Amino acid sequence: MKQALEEATATGTDVQDHDHHGIRQVLRELGIQEINAAYSTGLKWGGTDNEQLLSITSPTDGKLIAKVRLATAVDYEQVVRTAEEAFTTWRLVPAPKRGEIVRQIGNKLRDYKDPLGKLVSYEMGKILQEGLGEVQEMIDICDFAVGLSRQLHGFTMHSERPAHRMYEQYHPLGLVGIISAFNFPVAVWSWNAMLAAVCGNVSIWKPSEKTPLVAVAVQHIIKDVLRENELPEGIFSVLIGDAEIGSRMAADERLPLISATGSTRMGKKVGAVVGARLGKALLELGGNNAIILTPHADVDMAIRAVLFGAVGTAGQRCTTTRRLIIHEEVYEDVKQRLLSAYPKLPIGHPLQDGNLVGPLIDKDAVRMFSEALERVQAEGGTLLTGGEVLSGTGYETGTYVQPALVEAKNEYHTVQEETFAPILYLIKYSGEVENAIALQNGVRQGLSSSIFSLNMRETEAFLAHTGSDCGIANVNIGTSGAEIGGAFGGEKETGGGRESGSDAWRVYMRRQTNTINYGTALPLAQGIKFDI
Ligand code: NAD
Repeated sequence: MKQALEEATATGTDVQDHDHHGIRQVLRELGIQEINAAYSTGLKWGGTDNEQLLSITSPTDGKLIAKVRLATAVDYEQVVRTAEEAFTTWRLVPAPKRGEIVRQIGNKLRDYKDPLGKLVSYEMGKILQEGLGEVQEMIDICDFAVGLSRQLHGFTMHSERPAHRMYEQYHPLGLVGIISAFNFPVAVWSWNAMLAAVCGNVSIWKPSEKTPLVAVAVQHIIKDVLRENELPEGIFSVLIGDAEIGSRMAADERLPLISATGSTRMGKKVGAVVGARLGKALLELGGNNAIILTPHADVDMAIRAVLFGAVGTAGQRCTTTRRLIIHEEVYEDVKQRLLSAYPKLPIGHPLQDGNLVGPLIDKDAVRMFSEALERVQAEGGTLLTGGEVLSGTGYETGTYVQPALVEAKNEYHTVQEETFAPILYLIKYSGEVENAIALQNGVRQGLSSSIFSLNMRETEAFLAHTGSDCGIANVNIGTSGAEIGGAFGGEKETGGGRESGSDAWRVYMRRQTNTINYGTALPLAQGIKFDI
């Protein structure tokens, strides 16, 4: 203890001395003891002047993990200036060489997968399997970005004019601001930062104030790559701060693109501020995702997908299954199966083997869970099982809840909203699949959706343009757990943004159309005559 405190003082750290579940060792492995700063420009940490400290406690056991400093306006300016300088160098590095740096970052993430996954789990509360999965997602996007670095292509077109040719090319934008949510505290950063990087941009990351330690850890991990390659500071920066720093980024004209992940409430604010300056906003906001279960469903398979979708990450995924739209013919069977599975869910410390449901992020989230259950019952919903805030040994933090199953109607106000907690609404439909699709689309959000059916006419109706209105529409797969290869995002109040795979990279670049005349005349388009 004494040695740890001395070490802490010597290096100016605020990391707490406890080794519950080996977390101190994890922090040490990730190099976290070395900071006492509010920002990092990749190679250097800074901003030690602010006396304001933010305490980071784990939702798993309520223990204080560390204290971090909040960035000030002065820190912000320093980070932006350094990023601007770095951009002048980074954009000159050929894209495949930028890909090589991202490849090395992916390899470092492989080396640190275990401790980083463990820290994700401890700081955010998702089970270790999902914490490791999140780091794997970072590795996957690095691999994807490496390939992409040789593929940043535009189209070529035939010109209507003789001896002319046309093509388009993509140039880097400059500084990309990344505002991320607590529930995917590192993967979402990598989706953005790795694509932005191969595209020739530099990025400034403001992680959630609820999960800044994993961001600090990630900066430590990539620092070595930057140093080994003698790259300038400022290619990947982190600012520790709350909504205030986020809104500063949104308003800053030096950041042509703001990629913001979080609640629809936040996205509406950020979107308005970025829009007012005619900047680009990539918004990844809340979902209200449904699975449709038709009479032709493989119910065994569907139940497994529903359970992972509804209670995985304790219902704190943007793609969490929140509504189950079940045909009346199979309704009772599905309800009974879920009623038998829900009480048996292993809920507990996410680092302990066997547990499948960890805590909610904090007591505010628990309050919102309980309030939503009260509201939906007042509207006429029936709580079938769950809903309790757990107490007693292992649950002293008051952050563990028993996932709830509620019979409800789609039009209930509470069902129309995203409650970021494990509540699954069972909604009955009758007649044709179109009725279920109408219910599925009958919310303001449009992120993820799925249908369980072995009937081709039903599944094709779901996928047709008159079918699901979501950014993600799956068949015989649940709503969550997307692969990085596809473009990820949703419509309506989910914000319309797309990131990760497919051609999502284009949003990180500016498109330029080039027309070249290699002839001796100067014909005008549309045959216009303008002879002088
Ligand atoms: P949140 O909106 O509270 O915070 C998200 C981030 O936005 C944080 O970094 C926060 O500091 C910042 N922020 C808040 N107000 C801001 C403002 N006015 N200006 C600038 N920045 C601001 O969300 P949360 O509780 O961290 O995350 C949960 C939400 O995120 C859920 O709604 C979930 O569906 C959504 N989410 C969406 C996706 C997606 O890809 N669609 C992915 C993950 C999470």
